Amino acid sequence: MKWNRFVGASLIALLIFATACSGDGTDKTASAELPLIKETDHGLFYSPDLPENVNRVITILSEAFESNYSRIAKLFDYELSDKTSIYVYTDKSEFQTMMGRATEGSYVASEKIIKVYTPANLDDPETREEYTDQIVHEFVHAVIQQINPSVGRVKWLDEGAAYYASNQLGKELQRRAVFFDLPTLEQLKSPDYFDEAGSAAYFYCGTFVQYMADTYGADALNRIVRNPKQIERILNNSFEKLYEQWKIQMSKPPSSL
Ligand SMILES: [Zn+2]
Repeated sequence: MKWNRFVGASLIALLIFATACSGDGTDKTASAELPLIKETDHGLFYSPDLPENVNRVITILSEAFESNYSRIAKLFDYELSDKTSIYVYTDKSEFQTMMGRATEGSYVASEKIIKVYTPANLDDPETREEYTDQIVHEFVHAVIQQINPSVGRVKWLDEGAAYYASNQLGKELQRRAVFFDLPTLEQLKSPDYFDEAGSAAYFYCGTFVQYMADTYGADALNRIVRNPKQIERILNNSFEKLYEQWKIQMSKPPSSL
């Protein structure tokens, strides 16, 4: 009977934990701290995995993180007060159980922790690029959501800035030749657009943020990150007009974007 009670209590604890970690990361429940595997100039890398199994992947991720750190902090004109905590899991199902949803990476704003799944083997160059890009992407979220937590609720800006500033956008622009599935204005502004369109949503929101940065300057982008509701005043333009101008820009050859 004791065993049954123990199992029951453990299941309930597990359910509470999984529920607390799901959703948009706004919960206040801190997850249990993991062993520290590596400390770098600006990062603290933790993992539930044995150091000998995760050392190599964390070395690769930490190098990508450090080599992009200053560029991103400078781009958003922000000095982080603490080293960034990063949890690395090499077991995808363990990671998704912990997160409570099917994701491979997230910045958990309430805990100020980047949490990522990364395969233990990054020997394949494409896989390596995908997951080093992911950690840089999550770091952009960490910076802009620490500047202004409300950015997390303006999805086109939050994801668009992450996709743009991580250079994932630049790489995709080199591969993509046609833009046939541009979002409507309503789609662009809707958080559901990301569920509906998947990777295309990241791409188009990235180009929208890039268009603003190129047309109005990094300073204007920074002011928008700090005060998204004032975007029309900051750009001296209506959102509708901005959208129409971006659409015209997207109809030009990709090389000119
Ligand atoms: Zn993101």
